Amino acid sequence: MYLYNSLTRKKEKFVPREQGKVYMYVCGITAYDLCHIGHARAAVVFDVLVRFLRYLGYEVIFARNFTDIDDKIIKRANELGIPWNEVAKRYIEAFYEDMAKLNILKPTFEPRATEHIKEMQELIQVLIDKGYAYVTSDGDVYFRVRAFKSYGKLSGRDIEELKAGARVEVGENKEDPLDFALWKSSKPGEPWWDSPWGRGRPGWHIECSAMSEKYLGLPLDIHGGGQDLLFPHHENERAQTVAARDIEFVSYWVHNGFVQVKGEKMSKSLGNFVTLRAIYEKFLPEVLRFFLLTKHYKTPLDFSYENLEEAEKALKKIYEAKKAIKEVIQSNPTKNTPIPEEIVNEVNEFKEKFKKALEDDLNTAAALGFTFNIVKIANRLTQEKSFKKSKNVTSVLTKILDGLNELGEILGVFSSDPDKFLAELKNKKLERKNINREEIEKLVLERSLARKNKDFKKADEIRDRLFKLGVVVKDTPHGSIWDVE
Ligand SMILES: [Zn+2]
Repeated sequence: MYLYNSLTRKKEKFVPREQGKVYMYVCGITAYDLCHIGHARAAVVFDVLVRFLRYLGYEVIFARNFTDIDDKIIKRANELGIPWNEVAKRYIEAFYEDMAKLNILKPTFEPRATEHIKEMQELIQVLIDKGYAYVTSDGDVYFRVRAFKSYGKLSGRDIEELKAGARVEVGENKEDPLDFALWKSSKPGEPWWDSPWGRGRPGWHIECSAMSEKYLGLPLDIHGGGQDLLFPHHENERAQTVAARDIEFVSYWVHNGFVQVKGEKMSKSLGNFVTLRAIYEKFLPEVLRFFLLTKHYKTPLDFSYENLEEAEKALKKIYEAKKAIKEVIQSNPTKNTPIPEEIVNEVNEFKEKFKKALEDDLNTAAALGFTFNIVKIANRLTQEKSFKKSKNVTSVLTKILDGLNELGEILGVFSSDPDKFLAELKNKKLERKNINREEIEKLVLERSLARKNKDFKKADEIRDRLFKLGVVVKDTPHGSIWDVE
């Protein structure tokens, strides 16, 4: 497996610190609001990475944190007039609901900041003792950025340029504007914990250093997160751990790209974000997951409802192929036509290419491309008369179906039962396009009767009417079937 490492800015062969095991950490959410597609992209990307590493035979020990105390949570609590820990609880629950729908596996560990205050304080004390941190007269503790020689190495930033942009906020008693908070003394009315430096609460960055080390040991094999966390969050995490432990923090830093809306980054601060719940109202969560995998994880991904519809069409094609495979197998074909050897070989080749694509820096876009090569072969076998009537096709199609499900499990998409998915999709589309199912079924029935009575003019009229409503009718030997366009 090869991964692009943000620290070295190179694609590197992945070699974990212990043979057969992967210790992986991904920064989780700050629990103060609902998740948007940016969160979903990071969740899906690293979920696929975990699934694929497990598929390759690794034992993956995966930790993802919850930031359950932070300025944003306190601010939100004040806005809502509820306790800060209620805010965190509420949005962690919402996170679980939204992510379960997206088929995200649960990590091995889900540490919460407020449950690891002791570990953070110990780490801060080490930094103070080694001269990398200092306590101010107000009881704040800051990291002394200039004392850490390789600051900026991860994000590729120059310390002098950073200095030019740095600003000291009112009430901050820093030695240098570059320094960042490890511990903040609490203001009246704010939550606090006792510490050697007085009552206060941790800064944001220290929790990931403390909790990742506790659960995974050092160095972490993989540390993941969105591109936006590279600086300052990950740069600071690295500074804290390397300074305290004299060991490189992470072997492979992996960052996923932004989700964009019309070329602009989707974010809370820009106000152009779309929550997962808003999308789930219109689209099946699996469609969103599929959409998020249509681009390589590092490239920016343009979100629009049109793009989601494209993804929906593509995913539907895979499920329709699976459905057709099942139907041909169930029809018990009896003819003796042979199935050419090269067709079987081709399927295996595309399966191999699919895996190679994921081994090459988790290229899900290419992997999906090879999936469609397999779908195309399946469609040929289920549509061409000579093949679909052949008793020899059954074992080939069974292999293809098993293969598709196996690949689908790695990506966490298109591995469900096709009838169930297609029925759910139809319902979702009826709902989204505001089409009345009973009305459609009545018209389809009327049309069937007209056809039976050889009133083809009326049948065609009804077909046109249905088409205007967004419904297409297809006549099959087993009667008319309809689908939402
Ligand atoms: Zn973090």
